[in-house]
Amino acid sequence: MPKRMTPEELLGRLDTALSQGHIFAYYQPQYNHSTGRMTGAEALMRWQDPEYGMQYPSDFIPVLEESDMLYRADIQMVRTTCAFQRYCLDNEIPTVPISFNMSRNDIYKHEYFEEVEKIRREYDVPVRYIRVELTETSAIGGVDLVSSVIKRFHDYGYVVEMDDFGSGYSSLNILKDLNVDIIKLDLNFLNGDIGGRGGIILRSIVQMTKWLRTPIIAEGVETVEQADFMKSIGSNYIQGYLYSRPVPEKEFLEKLVTTQHEPTAAAMKLVDTFDADKFWDPNSLETLIFSNYVGGAAIFSYKNGELEVIRVNKKYVSEIGMNLSEKDFIESCPWHYFEPEGKVIYQQAINRAIESGEEERCDTWRVLKSKCCGEDRVCIRTYMQVIGRAGDQYLFYAMVHNVTKEKKNYDEVFNSDQRFRHASEHANIYAWEYDIATREMRPCFRCMRDLGLPALIKNYPEPAFEMGIFPQDYADMYREWHRMLEEGVDKLEAVIPLTRDRIPFVVRYTTEYDENGNPVKAYGSATYLDQIEEEGTSAGE
Ligand code: C2E
Ligand code: CA
Ligand code: CA
Repeated sequence: MPKRMTPEELLGRLDTALSQGHIFAYYQPQYNHSTGRMTGAEALMRWQDPEYGMQYPSDFIPVLEESDMLYRADIQMVRTTCAFQRYCLDNEIPTVPISFNMSRNDIYKHEYFEEVEKIRREYDVPVRYIRVELTETSAIGGVDLVSSVIKRFHDYGYVVEMDDFGSGYSSLNILKDLNVDIIKLDLNFLNGDIGGRGGIILRSIVQMTKWLRTPIIAEGVETVEQADFMKSIGSNYIQGYLYSRPVPEKEFLEKLVTTQHEPTAAAMKLVDTFDADKFWDPNSLETLIFSNYVGGAAIFSYKNGELEVIRVNKKYVSEIGMNLSEKDFIESCPWHYFEPEGKVIYQQAINRAIESGEEERCDTWRVLKSKCCGEDRVCIRTYMQVIGRAGDQYLFYAMVHNVTKEKKNYDEVFNSDQRFRHASEHANIYAWEYDIATREMRPCFRCMRDLGLPALIKNYPEPAFEMGIFPQDYADMYREWHRMLEEGVDKLEAVIPLTRDRIPFVVRYTTEYDENGNPVKAYGSATYLDQIEEEGTSAGE
């Protein structure tokens, strides 16, 4: 039965452990979940004491670290790994790159890189067979030292991995500062929450790292669901109990012989003209331009008919005319809004753009649905161009214009049948939802499009007067309405001249109540008076 050693015992036995081979490596293989092939492995330190039995890193590493002894054990691991790779090469055992762990003190107090490189040469192991893992915490106290160590490794052709990514708070910034080649994401940090918020975080990390062209290895993957989820968000590399626990050398050798291998592929390559790093930097000019100075724009990825929206700017959502945040839009299914015919047209344009590498254009009709004003059809003109590619996955930049008005006019001239349909569809009805408790108003997409309203208006109705939608001379009456809604009135109706042009509209409210009969929401609508068949009731002139 293994027993934990006290810190004194650990430190007292370290010399013997190192010289007698009580400290050695277990290897945990990594796999591509899509192909089942092995792509690499990690060497994990184990300490088998003759008296106390197996000791685990979580117990002894902090002790060694504190007394600055970890360096010696770490270097021993590098030696073990190189010796193992030498053994494979000599015996023609097909092997994979193996990573070892670097700790903070290794670089703060020691000549870590020089020592690693010396050992590699001693065993004459090609640099592609070993990799170094470092953690975000190695950058505590400044990134300069770590950056310079990474650079030294890079200069000699080593692959550098960022371990335990996502465990710290500064993760995203760290990626910008530290030039790593592979990211290791530990699912344990999410405590199993991949369905909810955790999944959203994962998805955005994966999307972001795609931009940085950095492959991801998911660690701590224990279930098929977790592996499938990672795959579904475009990350295939897996290290975890699902495929294999860390195993002793002998067992690992067997796995190497019996499993097929493949290299860890580079993430998506972007076309030269597009600087991905800058694109993800929230302070870069590129981001500023994307967010503020271009019209509606989106970045999406496309693979075998599957389309995933990666990033949209505010204007994209409002141009299309939806009452959604950019985040909600990204999380909704992009094909959902297309009419079947429009989907075909869009896909054809995608194929043309892939073939030509040039900007391609298409017009597609989409159906927008909302609770407060039902359905609306909009026609969106898209200009799209491929900006990146990885295998059969393509990355697109798309700009959109809402051309519904032009299209409808065109149709009206050329098709009298359609004219009727569009005329009725184009009925000048504006709708909104008013939350009685919070006084928040959510306009329909037509209000947003025609009147330029934001998706959410607080402290309603006051802003309506300031914006000039409701005339000042009707302000008191309209305020009074909202007081009545709070008190529970069920219906309100009047003719009110709206907008600065004082166009007469019939304005109505209908109230919705909860099970106790308390008013919850009021649904407002404004119908252009000409649309209503009664005549002459024009008011407020
Ligand atoms: P790490 O580098 O993040 O290593 C991964 C740890 O997760 C390993 O624990 C591994 O056994 C465990 N693990 C792998 N798959 C799963 C899984 O599906 N579920 C769960 N719950 N855990 C999984 P281990 O070997 O106990 O190592 C713990 C930590 O100790 C390592 O975390 C690393 O930070 C440190 N460590 C291990 N070996 C070395 C070394 O040679 N040098 C240094 N400096 N640190 C080391
Ligand atoms: Ca590690
Ligand atoms: Ca890790």
